[in-house]
Amino acid sequence: MTRLDSAIRRLTAQRDVLDWASREIAPSGLVLELGLGNGRTYDHLRTRLAGREIFAFERCLAAHPDCIPPDGRLIFGDIFETLPIFIEKHGEHSAALVHADIGSGDEELNRALARDLSPLIERVLQPGGLLIADRAFDLPSCRDISAQTGVLKNRYFVHRRE
Ligand code: SAM
Repeated sequence: MTRLDSAIRRLTAQRDVLDWASREIAPSGLVLELGLGNGRTYDHLRTRLAGREIFAFERCLAAHPDCIPPDGRLIFGDIFETLPIFIEKHGEHSAALVHADIGSGDEELNRALARDLSPLIERVLQPGGLLIADRAFDLPSCRDISAQTGVLKNRYFVHRRE
């Protein structure tokens, strides 16, 4: 498999899971995009979930100009600083959907990010809320339901809070 094949496979799985989650999401609750990047998945979510409150977190703004969230919906800074403040403001268990795509090419760093982010995800997800991510997280209050999405194993991950 070439690197192009691998990128297409990853992006296809990502889009399929975003679409699946857009159908499965609870009718109320916030949507959090962790890692705005160039805004591709934010654009997809805001299109699929028109009318929902979507907040995007990013520490280094480089999104396509069309994909910058409106005033008050871009939470700028390091997630480990901004997400606890966001939870204080919006309340614990206020999110119906969290999409975490903050990984890089450094696998060791990615594992550390997922480990350190897990307690914050547990605090922000509402009962029945979904975490979708490019890797599995260790979330004692959630169940890994990735197999329900129809996406091939280990391509993209979904956890539902009990
Ligand atoms: N989902 C995006 C898209 O489709 O365009 C791509 C996101 S990109 C893979 C990961 C992003 O997460 C980067 O833009 C990076 O700056 C951001 N990021 C990584 N760690 C972060 C942190 N601790 N706080 C805030 N943003 C972070």
